[in-house]
Amino acid sequence: MKVAIVASECAPFAKTGGLADVVGALPKYLAELGVDVKIFIPKYDSIDEKKYNLRYISDIGEIKVRVAGFPRSVYLHTAKLPNSAVDVYFIDCREYFYRGKIYTENWDEDERFILLNKAVIEICQRLQWAPDVFHCNDWQTGLMPFFVKESYGWDKMFDHSAFLYSIHNIGYQGRFSKETLAKTELKEEHIQFGGALEFEDSFSMMKGGILNSEVISTVSDTYAHEVLTPEYGAGLQDILRSRQSDFFGVLNGIDIDEWNPETDKLIPFHYSKNDLTNKKKNKQFLLEKTSLKFNEKIPVIGIISRLVEQKGFDLIAEEIHDLLSLDAQWLILGSGKEIFEMLFTKMNSTLPNKCWTHLGFNNELAHLIEAGADMFLMPSHYEPCGLNQMYSLRYGTVPIVRKTGGLADTVQDWHEYQSYEKDTGNGFSFVDTTGVALHAAVKRAIDSFNIPDEWKKIQLNGMNSDNSWEASAKKYVRLYERAILKRK
Ligand code: ADP
Repeated sequence: MKVAIVASECAPFAKTGGLADVVGALPKYLAELGVDVKIFIPKYDSIDEKKYNLRYISDIGEIKVRVAGFPRSVYLHTAKLPNSAVDVYFIDCREYFYRGKIYTENWDEDERFILLNKAVIEICQRLQWAPDVFHCNDWQTGLMPFFVKESYGWDKMFDHSAFLYSIHNIGYQGRFSKETLAKTELKEEHIQFGGALEFEDSFSMMKGGILNSEVISTVSDTYAHEVLTPEYGAGLQDILRSRQSDFFGVLNGIDIDEWNPETDKLIPFHYSKNDLTNKKKNKQFLLEKTSLKFNEKIPVIGIISRLVEQKGFDLIAEEIHDLLSLDAQWLILGSGKEIFEMLFTKMNSTLPNKCWTHLGFNNELAHLIEAGADMFLMPSHYEPCGLNQMYSLRYGTVPIVRKTGGLADTVQDWHEYQSYEKDTGNGFSFVDTTGVALHAAVKRAIDSFNIPDEWKKIQLNGMNSDNSWEASAKKYVRLYERAILKRK
């Protein structure tokens, strides 16, 4: 089976969030199952070509891809996905992808990803490689089925290519003004009222992906149910309901080449569930890098996140005084909205012994926090899957989460599931979207931390949780088979 995975991010080359982790990990596990998989992403100027051995494919040379009425020059580069034999293809279009960052708010943001979608098709033609499935991800790739079936419908090589469209976050839909249609040169009917790309009088790439793909998926079972409701569906719930029989949840896994406390190259002391002594040494090492004093008896609560509303920072802001009066230390790594950046910077300066914030994206620090912190907080309003709680479980760093989406599917509250006989109860969770509920969960976690035997049991339950990719990769193969069958 031949599968093209198309996305706007792929770890370790280009990453802003969980999508990159999925695109950088799933293909390795698919390859182990015998799938012939290739990854297609843009070649951003931020990608370190030397480090990852990117190679220009001169045989293919310049490709002209038409966007917004003009031919744009595209070149192709390739590299292996680290720790695998999987080929990654980088679409090099200087005019669109050399902007210093992955996403922009520029006037031509729509064109950048129209180009990605069309270029992938042109490249498959040049490679004479017709995928059985195009596995598209998030709004940036929602137009792929339109281009393949319509603009390039003349090319018989794609007659049997099917589409799986994966939604990693329904909050980002690729909405543009209706003028975007002209830039795609697709049929006018799609943007007329009720058309496949028309949504609330605008152009929606995600709606298109949902309606024109054979199968649709999202990244956890709970989120797959949640997005069918007005509370979580961000307006697309009815569109998804119309495709409910082809819509599935597949939980992400974690890439143990990258996230494993026994082998992690980015942490100083390795450890396993058989001996947690080195976890304490990591805590000491981590705290030495900050303004906080190491004290074995005081729990360190870590946060690594995009600082946006979705992640529940308003709940932290609401309860900030009571949270900071708890006997705990806080380590925050993130960047995003100014109000949240200011909140944490202020916490830093008012309570330098309790709080340490690093604004920015820093993968090494993210690994150190996972290894050195005692607890990890994710109070998300919604969370399609969430990866950090799974990394935390694996690193014996007990997660405190809001019970939603993938957080609900992976974290079992100690007091709800507690059992010394069974290996359940691996974290703490709360339901209400209030600062008070968040505070109560953090307080319960601190109380358990102060009972060492109980804490160790919770840590070990987490470390024994199976969040590997193997089972999920098999589920994806079944979805690919389903999509192929539907396309016939
Ligand atoms: P989302 O995709 O919504 O941002 P996920 O939990 O699915 O959330 O994935 C986030 C990924 O990005 C994780 O691998 C996390 O460690 C990483 N990450 C987020 N913010 C930062 C940061 N400031 N520095 C380093 N890594 C980060």
